[in-house]
Amino acid sequence: MPPTIDMGIPGASSSASSGVAGKRVLLAEPRGYCAGVDRAVETVERALEKHGAPVYVRHEIVHNRHVVDTLAKAGAIFVEETDEVPEGAIVVFSAHGVAPTVHTTAAERKLQVIDATCPLVTKVHNEAKRFARDDFDILLIGHEGHEEVVGTAGEAPDHVQLVDGPEAVDAVTVRDLNKVIWLSQTTLSVDETMETVRRLRERFPTLQDPPSDDICYATQNRQVAVKAMAPECQLVIVVGSRNSSNSVRLVEVALGAGSDASYLVDYADDIDPAWLDGVTSVGVTSGASVPEILVRGVLDRLAEYGFDTVQPVTTANETLVFALPREIRPARR
Ligand code: SF4
Repeated sequence: MPPTIDMGIPGASSSASSGVAGKRVLLAEPRGYCAGVDRAVETVERALEKHGAPVYVRHEIVHNRHVVDTLAKAGAIFVEETDEVPEGAIVVFSAHGVAPTVHTTAAERKLQVIDATCPLVTKVHNEAKRFARDDFDILLIGHEGHEEVVGTAGEAPDHVQLVDGPEAVDAVTVRDLNKVIWLSQTTLSVDETMETVRRLRERFPTLQDPPSDDICYATQNRQVAVKAMAPECQLVIVVGSRNSSNSVRLVEVALGAGSDASYLVDYADDIDPAWLDGVTSVGVTSGASVPEILVRGVLDRLAEYGFDTVQPVTTANETLVFALPREIRPARR
């Protein structure tokens, strides 16, 4: 990996601009694994250690090709639905969460469930349940078909309406203007979500906010770091998979914050050398489901093209760690 110059915290945009002559990489910090992904991946690893292969996993445990391929080689079998899992077998639910009906069908098949749903997704589920109990119309801002949204909406299908971005606001109808709340998917663009909320509030002035931020700390922190870095970059490379919502949002945020170009790559090999023509400052970051080894691969590849100075752009330090699911936690002595 190329040498780094520690530019410190925060003043990220000023540290980014106090640069080094020649070609350089600005490296966003924080980036990569969040606490929920770390927990989910370790859950599958521990399940394989404890029970041996195969361990079934419903949906991609996290949205990253490398992680899924690595766990599959170690003995995880990824399935779309629980009815593909043999009766009585172990199944891990992914970090994105599941609807209650999935727990029901798993119980009917006597599956041994290990639930790796991120606690911050569970928090949104609990909000949906609570406001449905109070008979609110819940406007869930999120991407249609995303696993997390399907799971959250499944907690209260009669009360939840999906609002897939600002353009979807006009189609929303509610029963009682005094009982309307918005919630959101955890991995959205903060700016776009606020625009959706602004338009919703134009139509429903008494719209209530969620009790706490639904867009999670990791999504927000990675977007803030990219916003600090992007104005100094002609190109921002985001390491992440196409089905990773928070990674795709980072590309949008980079472009919105002033980078001339931004691309999503799974691996260093995806970098097209033509992207680097005439470029002297490249920003690098990664989505919350991306292991650091893939970022190191990208930095090594950029170094081969002469981008051998790496300047961290640090906007936050993350220390959050979640306990493993109860079923897989080591026994206390
Ligand atoms: S991105 Fe946020 S909500 Fe999703 S797993 Fe990570 S911490 Fe949890």
